[in-house]
Amino acid sequence: MKFSQLIIPTLREAPADAEIASHVLLVRGGFIRRLASGSYNWLPLGVRVLKNIERIVREELERAGAQEILMPVVQPAELWRESGRWDVMGPEMLRLTDRHDREYCVSPTQEEVVTDLFRRVITSYRQLPCNLYHIQTKFRDEIRPRFGLMRAREFIMKDGYSFHLDEESFETAYAAMHACYSAILTRVGLDYRAVEADSGSIGDGESHEFHVLAESGEDDIAYSPTSAYAANVEKAEAVALPGDGPVEPIRKTHTPGTKTIEAVAEFLDVDTTRCVKTLIVHADSHQSRLLALVLRGDHQLNEAKAGRIDGVRRPLEFASKADIEANLGVGIGSIGPVGLPLPIVADSSAAALASFVCGANIDDYHYVGANWKRDVAGEVRVADIRNVVEGDPAPDGSGPLDFLRGIEVGHIFKLGTKYSQAMGVTVQDASGRDVVPIMGCYGFGVSRMVAAIVEQCHDTDGIVWPDAVAPFDVHVVALNNTKSDGVQTVADRLHDDLRARGLTVLFDDRDDRPGVKFADADLIGIPNRITVGDRGLKEGIVEYRRRDEADVRRLTPDAVVQTLAGIP
Ligand code: ATP
Ligand code: MG
Repeated sequence: MKFSQLIIPTLREAPADAEIASHVLLVRGGFIRRLASGSYNWLPLGVRVLKNIERIVREELERAGAQEILMPVVQPAELWRESGRWDVMGPEMLRLTDRHDREYCVSPTQEEVVTDLFRRVITSYRQLPCNLYHIQTKFRDEIRPRFGLMRAREFIMKDGYSFHLDEESFETAYAAMHACYSAILTRVGLDYRAVEADSGSIGDGESHEFHVLAESGEDDIAYSPTSAYAANVEKAEAVALPGDGPVEPIRKTHTPGTKTIEAVAEFLDVDTTRCVKTLIVHADSHQSRLLALVLRGDHQLNEAKAGRIDGVRRPLEFASKADIEANLGVGIGSIGPVGLPLPIVADSSAAALASFVCGANIDDYHYVGANWKRDVAGEVRVADIRNVVEGDPAPDGSGPLDFLRGIEVGHIFKLGTKYSQAMGVTVQDASGRDVVPIMGCYGFGVSRMVAAIVEQCHDTDGIVWPDAVAPFDVHVVALNNTKSDGVQTVADRLHDDLRARGLTVLFDDRDDRPGVKFADADLIGIPNRITVGDRGLKEGIVEYRRRDEADVRRLTPDAVVQTLAGIP
């Protein structure tokens, strides 16, 4: 295709709101343009990449036995009421009302609709297992849309759902989907990890995420370099660290103006590992409106873990400053478990400390040498509520954990009978018994993949597309073609010959300076570049270069066609 006839509005400058490479390069390269916060127009180059990813996803899913369907974007509220999620989904779900005052949502995911479809069309065990998927627009009113396609509000997802009569059939399908996602990422040529993950509001069972590794990723992955263990930090199990040291006498100490753990530790000249911090959240019980979560000073709360603790109100919500002052009569920086009139949950590593520093529940005072058994009245529940940190022991005993950053592109879930049960789905088995089918669901971020690929595959000049998804196979750069008939003729012929061999070709036929064309070619990132210029043609050659290699090969036009077509 001719560059001059396509809409490829490349830019020299990065958009002001772009913080990461993929956002910058996809806009600068003319792949996408912003419409509104978190929503993007796809231009011809962008669509070509998107369609290549979709094609690979389809091929691998079909190979794994999944069937493609297409479900609506606008979904009736009744189905979400049946599953119980209409009230559980927060403001991320975009809700609307039609002219008859009926309520709908714009699909953030499709469990309800597919389960409803299933119960209408599947009646017999003979039709199971059944694995359905579609590639469709999703809308999630993300609190902070950012990073271009990475965290958009409107995006494209492949979502699949499987239905089974028994666990064995389900486990086979789950393993097949795990293998299928691995195959997709391997085909694209990406460095990725499959990790244990938290299920969020989708399901209660086990789940795995697929992460494309990149520094700009929003997720931390904890993994063991010496075993197969890998988990999203949201999910990774924290092992209780030993609390060494003697039991000390307790002392109340004046700590004026120290509002943070770091400030307290510095003031008292102790390590933050010897301090505890106390976070107050809303409780889900009539005995107490609030509940205290206690962590070692150097640890961070894991909100997903804390949200699953009995007695914590869901979704997890921190008490406001005013709430704390009204209920406890103390400011946020001076709270501690000694004498605290609230139920207490201590992280296992905080609970292991023999002596610790904590707020004294009096403004500007802390206790030094506090001890759980001796000084904290009432029951203290011990649980894993913290994020793992680098160097923590891996839960499988294989040694210290390392961290990587990743971009989540896929997430597969074991749903059990959560939706089939709630929506009253049954299938008759061979003996005529009604069985509630077991479900799995499998999400893949098709549009996020475009950004994830660029995050992993770029350099200072632009994108370096992997062959499998590149918008074109070959970029023919014709130098001064509008002034040289020779260049125009050879470039035209290369374009036609390469196309005849089944390759896709972008022919830069614009009346522009060579420097502009080279800069755009680097920016757009097509994997093979052929430069046609008068100087080379005098010797009968053109220049061939891979986008990811510095080497330039001087070949005749015929030889370059043969090289690219894989003909020896
Ligand atoms: P995240 O933790 O990144 O918000 P999620 O757990 O909400 O993701 P799922 O509900 O599992 O995501 O959705 C399946 C896939 O859809 C994700 O793995 C991701 O690739 C993609 N996805 C989710 N949210 C977005 C978004 N806001 N923009 C682009 N892609 C998204
Ligand atoms: Mg999300």
